[in-house]
Amino acid sequence: MPRGRAAGDLIQLRPEGLYCPAGDFHIDPWRPVPRAVITHGHGDHARTGMGAYHTTRIGLPILEWRLGDQIYMAHEYGAPFRMGDATVSLHPAGHVLGSAQVRVEVDGEVWVASGDYKRQHDPTCDPFEVVRCDTFITEATFGLPIYRWPDTAEVAREIVVWRDRCAERGEAAILYCYALGKAQRVLAELAAHTDAPVLLHGAVANGVDVYRRAGVPMIDTLPVADTDKAADFAGKLVLAPPSAAGSAWIRRFRRAQQGFASGWMRLRGNRRRRNYDRGFVVSDHADWPDLMRTVRETGASRVIATHGNTDAIIRALNEDGIAAEAFRTDFGGEE
Ligand SMILES: [Zn+2]
Ligand SMILES: [Zn+2]
Repeated sequence: MPRGRAAGDLIQLRPEGLYCPAGDFHIDPWRPVPRAVITHGHGDHARTGMGAYHTTRIGLPILEWRLGDQIYMAHEYGAPFRMGDATVSLHPAGHVLGSAQVRVEVDGEVWVASGDYKRQHDPTCDPFEVVRCDTFITEATFGLPIYRWPDTAEVAREIVVWRDRCAERGEAAILYCYALGKAQRVLAELAAHTDAPVLLHGAVANGVDVYRRAGVPMIDTLPVADTDKAADFAGKLVLAPPSAAGSAWIRRFRRAQQGFASGWMRLRGNRRRRNYDRGFVVSDHADWPDLMRTVRETGASRVIATHGNTDAIIRALNEDGIAAEAFRTDFGGEE
C-alpha cells in the first residue's frame, strides 16, 4: 500500500497521537487534546490533560483511579456513538478490566484500533472480540516468533510451588507484577491452587480494591501495611509493583526471594539482567501466534502495527499478501 494514502485515512498519526479527522478525536493521545477515546488505564494509554475522556462503562472506575477527577463519557461495549461524522464503538480487548478496541466507521469504511489486547483466558476481564474491519491497527509489543505464552493456570501453580519452597527456607516470596491488570489476574488464577491470603504492596492493593468493587473474584488479600511490625513473612506470597524492587519498602522482609511476572520473562537474559531469582511468564498482550491469528480473523486488507516489535510482523504479513506498515507511537512495553 502506498504510504501517500494518509490524507484519506480514517485514523492518522499526529504529534498528539492517533487522530480521526472525520470524528475530530484522538485515541490514547500522549499530548493534551479536546476529545480522547481511551482504550484502557495503563499509563502509556491514559494520560491527564484531555478535555474529555470517552471510555467503557466497565473501565470507568479504572480511569477514575488512575486519572482522578476528569470529564468522562462512559459507553457500553458494542454500543455505537457519534463523534462528528464518525460512528464509534468500543469492543472488549481482553487486556485488563474494561479495556477496549476502538471501531471507527465512516461512509461504510471500518477501521479498528486494537489498543493493547490478548487472546488468552483471563478471569478478570471480558474476552477479546474479533471485529471485522478494512484496516486493523494492531499492537505488536511481543511481535517476535520467540514470544509464545504458557497456560497461565499452570504458571499460577508454579508460583505456589515457588512460595512453598521459600517457606521451607524461611523466606518470603515477593512477586513483582504491574499494579493494573497483571496483579489481579495472578490473584484470580491463584484462587484455584491455594487458600493462603496474599500480602499486597499499597499500589497493588489500590488496584485490587477497584477490581473487587467491580465484582472480580480473587483470592483473599491483606495489605502489608496492615500486618504487625514484628510479623514473620516466611512462606508468605507478597505482590508488589516492579518499582518497589530495591526500595526501602522491601527491607522489612529481611529474607526473601524475588520473582517477576511478565511476558519479558520469556527471555532468560531479561531475568538475569534484572537480578530476579525467578521469572514467571504471564503477559496481558497477545503472543506471536495470537497476533498473526487475530490479524487474519479481522479480515483486514491493511494492517498498521504499533508498540516496539513491528518489523517482524510487517514482514510476515507482507509475505501473506496483507499490506502492513508501522506507526511510530509513544506507547510503552508491558504496562
Ligand atoms: Zn500499550
Ligand atoms: Zn496496556
